[in-house]
Amino acid sequence: MSVPAPGETTRWRCSLCGNLTRFDVTRTTRAVEFVHLDLAGEPRVDEREILEDTIESVRCRWCNATDSVQLVARPGAEDGETPEG
Ligand SMILES: [Zn+2]
Repeated sequence: MSVPAPGETTRWRCSLCGNLTRFDVTRTTRAVEFVHLDLAGEPRVDEREILEDTIESVRCRWCNATDSVQLVARPGAEDGETPEG
């Protein structure tokens, strides 16, 4: 089961403990990387183009719960929805 990603006006919130800022995110990403090596052979990724990005699970760092994350509006989001309380 994939987890919805937060957008410009939304954020994750743990529905069990209220954590808003600390999560372990397990995701599957397909990407094309522009790998730029220096003359000594040390690689560095200069550009990354994301082809697919699926969030598989989000675990709360505070209470260790999985599947407890919900999307809530960010403070000051312009869609008129503000978190209760
Ligand atoms: Zn939590």
